[in-house]
Amino acid sequence: MNEDEKLAMLVCPMGKKPLERQGDTLVCTSCGTRFAIENGIPNMLIEEAKLPEGCATIAELKCVASGEVRYDG
Ligand SMILES: [Zn+2]
Repeated sequence: MNEDEKLAMLVCPMGKKPLERQGDTLVCTSCGTRFAIENGIPNMLIEEAKLPEGCATIAELKCVASGEVRYDG
């Protein structure tokens, strides 16, 4: 399995939706959160991810705000 295939198997830790690779980031196709790929290793910690435009906190993410995903952090 090559790197791209491994990355393609990852899902967003919040809504478990597929991610799309954009340069050195993985972007959730659902909530838009961006996860950095550092030295080939994706950092899937939601606390360290870059939230999409319009979201100041994790609780404001589309999937969390809608009640689809629980986030107690
Ligand atoms: Zn997501």
